[in-house]
Amino acid sequence: MINMMKNVVLQQMGSKSSTNMIPIKNPIIQLPAKYIKEAYGRVHSIDTFTAIDGPGIRYMLFLQGCNLRCKSCSNPDTWSHKDGEMTSSKQVIANISKYRSYIEGITVSGGEPLLQPEFVSALFQECHNMDLNTCIDTAGQSLNKNWHMVLPHTDIALICLKSIDPIKYMKFTGMPQKHALQFLHTVQEYNVPFYLRYLYIPSLTDDYKDIDKFIEYSKTLNNLKGIEFLPYHRIGVSKWKTLGIKYPLEDIQVPTKEKIEEVTNYMRNAGLHVI
Ligand code: SF4
Repeated sequence: MINMMKNVVLQQMGSKSSTNMIPIKNPIIQLPAKYIKEAYGRVHSIDTFTAIDGPGIRYMLFLQGCNLRCKSCSNPDTWSHKDGEMTSSKQVIANISKYRSYIEGITVSGGEPLLQPEFVSALFQECHNMDLNTCIDTAGQSLNKNWHMVLPHTDIALICLKSIDPIKYMKFTGMPQKHALQFLHTVQEYNVPFYLRYLYIPSLTDDYKDIDKFIEYSKTLNNLKGIEFLPYHRIGVSKWKTLGIKYPLEDIQVPTKEKIEEVTNYMRNAGLHVI
């Protein structure tokens, strides 16, 4: 059943991409729901209907806690590991089942969802029992052992690399880039199809040298289904103010439509599938 689900997902995603369907190398044994251990996680918020962040209409869960401090973060209220509501996986699944008739899958985002691997793993296994596909929206910054708990149950990953340049990455997030690249390597080992996000921020990640480096790196990746181009926006700035934290990109303007078109066309002309 899982493989069937994965193939459905891949076919849907194939309609967005020209790459061939990828064989599933790591079929796993799906436990019946009664054997899936209940796990607890800190949930920031829930969106019961979203048409972005994965294929089709989805149920989306934002988890609490993140170790990065991205300068453009739209959700700094998810950073704290203490806030959010402690929730059981079985409770979430009961809630998801109310929307089962129209959702195609579940996406778990954050914060950083890989910091709560037992919870995400339990949710994803339960979702597979309900024939729902599973998607993780992550920066890949957590312990390696966490990846091995979640990736076997993941159908799609949305990965934000933040910056291709290791020094800029560190300045932008406060964490070393190395771990994020290791995560990307592991995602490929698990054969999980993924989209890679390019965060385009004027004066920070708009250098064509970086874009060229990103293009070259992207071409080396297996199972990459496309590039999600994310131009800088100022959604979430008010949250920084509410939390009493100085917003570090106050002087940066959002890129113009023309500039976005120029850069996305540049990537497309270089052979990337930009969505
Ligand atoms: S990884 Fe996401 S939640 Fe964490 S700081 Fe960066 S943008 Fe914010």
